Formats: sequence, structure tokens, C-alpha cells
Amino acid sequence: MSVAVVLFTADLRLHDHPPLHAALASADEVVPLFVLDDAVGAAGFDAPNRRAFLADCLRDLDTGLRERGGRLVLRTGDVVEEVGRIVTETGANAVHMAADVSAFAQRREERLREALTPVGCRLRVHDAVVTAVAPGAVVPSDAGRDHFSVFTPYFRRWSEEGVRTPFRAPRAVRVPSGPASAPLPSRPGTGLSPGLAEGGEAAGRRLFTAWRRQGLASYEERHDDLAGDATSRLSPHLHFGTLSPTELVDRSRTAGGPGAEAFVRQLCWRDFHRQVLAARPAASHCDYRPRQDDWRTGRAASDDTAAWKEGRTGYPVVDAAMQQLLHEGWMHNRGRLLTASFLTKTLYVDWRTGARHFLELLVDGDIANNQLNWQWVAGTGTDSRPNRVLNPVTQAKRYDPDGAYVRRWVPELAEVAGPAVHEPWKLSEAERARCGYPEPILGLPEGLTRFKEARGLD
Ligand code: FAD
Repeated sequence: MSVAVVLFTADLRLHDHPPLHAALASADEVVPLFVLDDAVGAAGFDAPNRRAFLADCLRDLDTGLRERGGRLVLRTGDVVEEVGRIVTETGANAVHMAADVSAFAQRREERLREALTPVGCRLRVHDAVVTAVAPGAVVPSDAGRDHFSVFTPYFRRWSEEGVRTPFRAPRAVRVPSGPASAPLPSRPGTGLSPGLAEGGEAAGRRLFTAWRRQGLASYEERHDDLAGDATSRLSPHLHFGTLSPTELVDRSRTAGGPGAEAFVRQLCWRDFHRQVLAARPAASHCDYRPRQDDWRTGRAASDDTAAWKEGRTGYPVVDAAMQQLLHEGWMHNRGRLLTASFLTKTLYVDWRTGARHFLELLVDGDIANNQLNWQWVAGTGTDSRPNRVLNPVTQAKRYDPDGAYVRRWVPELAEVAGPAVHEPWKLSEAERARCGYPEPILGLPEGLTRFKEARGLD
């Protein structure tokens, strides 16, 4: 009787799961294993919103496995030690898992290989599970470059590469009776954003089905409409792998049309950042392209940062987006762009400070997407226009023309009609006093001048 272990990591699903598919095809019995790794918490990556979503995902994965005759085995501790224990307990001769890109994931793979090889157990690492196209499958043609640092040529090559046909979910999963499981975690009782999304593969598939019917076709025109909320909201499912990026690309391409093309392009951004991080794992905390920034520190900078975090900068669209983050553990992409620009450029505060705050709250908080998007906005990343500064008033008038997004998230301004909500400092003194909304923490020209001086621009 041969046994294989399937180590689930950022791929908490049964549909289109190459490691599970390969294990079932090659072994008589399979141990579906997830390890709640102490190192994730120790690295400060254990935020309540993500812990809650993860709890939903693990329960749903267990339910899906039980419907197929199996079950999830959960262990806590060090992932390498726990995998070793399961291999010893079951006599497994292979461990299947997804390839991943962060320094943590790369080290985990190395450590697993070192631990398993001497005991005669094979580690099989499967590509294109957490990405649609594997990092390294698409590389620049010029010698000496191991990854793409510009999105557009990457997108061209990535589009030519195509994706494999997604695997169906297995009908049956045969699990050995032996290995004990720790109890599955529950959502933490406190510290959660009140509007947190539901996790799990079933919820993810329902969301994608509904969005493909109702949102995909108009995605191109509507994805930047802050109040319209017309993006897929699939990011937490992609982060935890309850949905397969390969399947999303495949099904969107089948649907066709400009909306689907624009959506697939966004999925490519996800792969793009992953191939950057795979090649430069230190980009999670070091400038990808240093600009000799001497970021502000000290009392004034921390007061400004606190105002930004709490959504009381006096710039309504910035404050609205920060309130959305607090309330939902999620923020619209346009909001992420303009709040990150406001912190790093207008306030000239280090992108790492903002990235850390986002990671504390975002349910989709993801090392590759978060850190590299922050770097993109700060101008230390892959943006070819590193010194562009987003003006929050212009952005607000363009992407929230009627002010509905601001009124939704900033209660003090709920009664201000129309686009006037974006410039409350222009309201009469009596109206301003009635709202009680704060004055701007600094003037935009002042912020711009400081940024230009810091970067040595004219
Ligand atoms: P949709 O517009 O429906 O896009 C579909 C999918 O494409 C997303 O779910 C996501 O997986 C991917 N995608 C879209 N835009 C990007 C992008 N710019 N970069 C990489 N992938 C993208 N995304 C995260 O998943 N986790 C993060 O921690 C994260 N932090 C960010 C921080 C900043 C400062 C910025 C500017 C962006 C960040 N993003 C992050 C990217 C993007 O904002 C979110 O993926 C998107 O808003 C999620 O909403 P959605 O699923 O409705 O996206």
C-alpha cells in the first residue's frame, strides 16, 4: 500500500490542484495535510482577518475532502518537523506540494528536501499552482536577466505562453486511518473587521460564478469606479488559493470580450509580482530600485502616519479608503493606489510603514502583491514613472465623481451633497463646523515641494 502526503499551503482547494491530482494518481492513499506553522506568526504575518479567513478555508477544505471519503489532517508547529512526523507515521514515500516564491517559501522547500531525501521520501514540487504561469517559465531573452522588471513585455510573453487545462476536483480521496489531526481552528472572537468576507473554496466558487455572470463583461469600464465596487473581490481567494489562477484565466478567456481581457491582465500583474519576488526575495523589505530616499521620521511623521491610519487626514477620499480597510479588511485598488501615494509621496513616509499597516488588516494581505505594489507606488519598484504623485482631489473627482464612496465611508460628510464632498475646506464655516470633519493635515503643494526636493527633482 503506497502513501503520499499532499502538503497544502497557499492552495486551499480541491479543484485544479495538481499536487493532489498527481498524488492520487500515483499512490493508493493520500494524506491531505496543512500545518499551522509557528514561523508565520513569529514573522508577524498572523493578522486576525487572515486568521479568520484561513479558519473558514480549512473547514471548507475538510468538508470537501470528507464529501469524497477523506479528511484534512491539521498539525501545528514547524512545517518541516510536522511533515517528517507524518511521513514516519504513515510510511509515505512522496510529498507533493505547490512551488511558491517568497524567501520563506523557498527556504521551506529547501528544508523539506534536506529532511526528506535522507529518509527516502521524494519531494515533488508542482509549478503553476499558486500562479497561472510559473515564474521562470517566461524569462527575458537577453542574456543575464533572470526576470522581467517591466510589466508590458512580461504580459506579452505571458499571454503567448497560455495556461494548462484545469484539473477537475477528484471524485474520491482515500486517506489512511492513522494520522491524528489537531482540531480545526475557528474564527478569532475579537479584532476582526466587521465586514470581513467569508473564506473557503465553496464561497470562492460562488463568488466567481456570480461575478463572471454579472461583473466580468463590464470590468474594463467599471474597475476604477470607487463607489461602483465593480471589481471581482476575488483577491483573498487568490491569496489563500481557494480559487486557482489557472482556472480563472482559462474560464475568463473562454468567456471572452474586453472585460475578460482586462481581468486576465490583472491576473497577470499577480504573476508578474511573483516572478519579481521569486528572483529577488529581498524585495519584500528592501528597495527594488533604491532612490536614496531619506524618509521622514520623528514626531511629526508619526503623527501624520497615525492620522493616515485612522482615516483623519482631512482628504476625504484618502480617509474613506482607510475606513474601508478598517471595516472590511479590504480596499478598492484605486483606494490602495491613492492612499499609498499619499503616505509615501505627499507625507513622504517610508513605504514599509504603510505596507506593514496594510498587512495587519488586509484579508488578501500578500507579500508579493502588497510589498511590490507599495514599492511600485513609492517609486522604488517597477513603475517606469517613479516620481508620479497622485493628487487625492483630482483622483476623487475622477473615480468618485458624485462623492458616493466618500459619503459611504466618512460619516461626518454623509450629508454633503455631490462632488463638493471632495473639498470640504470650500464649505462655509457653518457647514464645516456642523460636519466636524478635520482640516487637511498639510497642503498638497507643500507635500509636493517636499517630495520633489527629497528626490532631487526640478
Ligand atoms: P480585481 O480588480 O478583480 O482583479 C482580479 C485579481 O487580479 C485580484 O484579485 C488580484 O489577485 C489581481 N490583481 C489586481 N490588481 C493587481 C495588482 N495591481 N497587482 C497584483 N495583482 C493584482 N493585492 C493583493 O492580492 N494583496 C495585497 O496585499 C495587495 N496589496 C496592495 C497594496 C497596494 C499599495 C496596491 C496599490 C495594490 C495592492 N494589491 C494587493 C493589488 C490590488 O489592489 C488588489 O489585488 C485588488 O484591489 C483586489 O481586488 P479584486 O480582487 O476585486 O481585484
